[in-house]
Amino acid sequence: MKKILLSTIILILIFTSCNFSKEGTSNMDRKYSIDPSKPVIALTFDDGPNTTTTVEMLDKLEKYDVVASFFVVGNHINDATKDVIKRAYDMGCEINNHSRTHAAMTSLTGEEIKEEVKYTDDKVFEITGERTKFFRPPYIATNDTVYDSIDLPFICGYGSTDYEDNVSPQERSTKILEQITDGGIILLHDFEGNSKTVEAMDLLIPALIEQGYQFATVSQLFEVKGIEPSLENGVIYTVVK
Ligand SMILES: [Zn+2]
Repeated sequence: MKKILLSTIILILIFTSCNFSKEGTSNMDRKYSIDPSKPVIALTFDDGPNTTTTVEMLDKLEKYDVVASFFVVGNHINDATKDVIKRAYDMGCEINNHSRTHAAMTSLTGEEIKEEVKYTDDKVFEITGERTKFFRPPYIATNDTVYDSIDLPFICGYGSTDYEDNVSPQERSTKILEQITDGGIILLHDFEGNSKTVEAMDLLIPALIEQGYQFATVSQLFEVKGIEPSLENGVIYTVVK
């Protein structure tokens, strides 16, 4: 009888500790929940943060319990939006770099490019305590000076011209689903007022889950695929494989 009581107590303790660790799900914990033998993708959003569309996007991610990576514009980070970044980070999302001013980096000098990236990196670090790990060039405009000036791997992705208002939520989702493949990066936008991309999430995320895709941050995608991101000039990732 005593033995049964003891085992019951031990079991209760085990369950309690599991529940505790579940509550504090960090980026690290999520990585280990990704099954490397099954397909995995990274959902990414550019041009935030803001207190409207970015917040609605986070609500959608929360609804489906998935993570994404946000490539933020430094000049959009302020007292009002820093809490939005913090919320995304605490949800297990990754905050990456999309320059300070969203200028085409190809129009700038090496020094100016470095300043653009450093500003955003420092702002993110102040909020999350983590450095940005990847760079998405605005307009995907690159040249050797841009590559030489930035010490981060470059990320592109499968898009669906979701920055054009006449593209419906259905089209935004369908175009991604037509292109997506294991290891793929999805490039969408959470700029202020882009509510059609928020709406598209109710079509896109369930369809991807239905097809067996797991959701990772960009860092987790590289880790799970066992690939070290390249810093070589001209390398910009849409698929990690
Ligand atoms: Zn952009």
